[in-house]
Amino acid sequence: MRIILFSSQTYDRDSFLAEARPQDLDLLFRQVRLEPDTAALAQGCEVVCAFINDDLSAPVLERLAAGGTRLIALRSAGYNHVDLPTAERLGLTVVRVPAYSPHAVAEHAVALILALNRRLHRAYNRTREGDFTLHGLTGFDLHGKRVGVIGTGQIGETFARIMAGFGCELLAYDPYPNPAVSALGARYLPLDALLEQAQIVSLHCPLTPATRHLINPASLQRMQPGAMLINTGRGALVDTPALVEALKSGQLGYLGLDVYEEEATLFFEDRSDLPLQDDVLARLLTFPNVIVTAHQAFLTREALAAIAATTLANIAAWRSGSPQNRVEAGQA
Ligand code: NAD
Repeated sequence: MRIILFSSQTYDRDSFLAEARPQDLDLLFRQVRLEPDTAALAQGCEVVCAFINDDLSAPVLERLAAGGTRLIALRSAGYNHVDLPTAERLGLTVVRVPAYSPHAVAEHAVALILALNRRLHRAYNRTREGDFTLHGLTGFDLHGKRVGVIGTGQIGETFARIMAGFGCELLAYDPYPNPAVSALGARYLPLDALLEQAQIVSLHCPLTPATRHLINPASLQRMQPGAMLINTGRGALVDTPALVEALKSGQLGYLGLDVYEEEATLFFEDRSDLPLQDDVLARLLTFPNVIVTAHQAFLTREALAAIAATTLANIAAWRSGSPQNRVEAGQA
């Protein structure tokens, strides 16, 4: 059986080849992103294995189905990039990796908070230039600060647990409160109240029609002046041009992004020799109080191993006629 892995990097190849798998699985690793122009590469592949920035819109799914594909095996937890009604209509089964390491993403969110607060990105450059001054590097104690967690599922809970360890006061917002997060002492509040009270806000909810641009000009205005915003969820949870305005006015004091609304054609590629065409991202990168990482929160050895193991298990289960970890149209 032929399985094509789009958007696969060397670390994906290493983690998949390290897993035990049936002899007859032919894994085709392709670095290119899945999009209308590359869908033909999947001709004759029963399984297409895709990542977060692959295009799984109706025209692409139609080409895949016409080429013999029957299973879309996502290497991600998020599935907001798949046109599920079209997949269903075409008889394509869609499976995902619901959990691989909440620690990987939660710890990256914490890394962004610590780096922004203690200006590690600036200090790193400064000492390498022989500048050992400290001006502009003043941080704040995390202890006692109010941290707002939006989305308290697996990753949000893990993040909340770490921040509780720093001695932070936890505020939470989720339509389905998590008792384990309440047990950490978190207070569940309406979204607006959380935004008004938190000094640090971290996004851990999925991207859905209800959460698109959850952070927008009005919500930024509600936040504490100089607050910190961390987004390791999905880029479109925030209205990015509004972030630029809030940073310019000082209303937003710190910004850590691991995801970006327009990341699909930028992230995971070395574009350092090319002029950056995205003016919003270019402007964001000029602020000293902004750190952007290129969707790397998931990137730990443990998470990669779990993604490979679950994906291969998903393929085996589907092959045996009992698919697991299915995603279906209408699923929230
Ligand atoms: P999860 O399903 O365990 O938790 C999501 C939580 O969000 C749930 O508790 C749900 O009730 C809540 N939620 C749903 N709608 C909401 C809303 N309108 N407002 C607030 N909360 C809402 O998912 P998870 O494993 O914790 O992952 C969360 C998200 O993190 C994923 O959907 C994905 O987009 C993102 N993610 C990013 C990376 C990365 O590398 N940056 C990696 C994995 C996941």
